[in-house]
Amino acid sequence: MFSTFKPKKEIKSCSTQSEGDNCCTPQPKGKVECPSCHQKAKGVLGKTFEALVTEESKSQFSCFDGFYYCKTPTCKTVYFRDETILTQEDMQVVVGLKEGATPATVCYCFEWTKEKIKAQIEATGATTALEDIQAKMENPGCSCEILNPSGGCCLGDVTKAIKAIARD
Ligand SMILES: [Zn+2]
Repeated sequence: MFSTFKPKKEIKSCSTQSEGDNCCTPQPKGKVECPSCHQKAKGVLGKTFEALVTEESKSQFSCFDGFYYCKTPTCKTVYFRDETILTQEDMQVVVGLKEGATPATVCYCFEWTKEKIKAQIEATGATTALEDIQAKMENPGCSCEILNPSGGCCLGDVTKAIKAIARD
């Protein structure tokens, strides 16, 4: 069957810089299993990868598209694409959702960390993290695509973090 044969094509050029003119898929569709922890991972945009990975690591790649982000706290893998695995060492920022990360940043746009949320809860019995983030999303607006390793909105992660801290 011809249809099942998929040759591995090397992508020659890539346009992670210019939006709307992508030679290859800008964001991988669907979810792919992390080769390390076997949990499903979501794709990230080439510009997310470009903004957050170290220059040294980036120099290995001609194209930044097609990477997936593993959010499993116990898994060392941050980004992966086929056989390629990147970890915290390849990152310009601390991946706050990974176990043992300090600071444990949950909102990269407005700098909310688990430490800050915990301190606020201990001091006042509650946290204004969600209200603060939601207000600032309106104005001045967020830049999750180039600040958050997940490339997406942090509200789900922040909500989870607050619940986990409140449980402790
Ligand atoms: Zn993983």
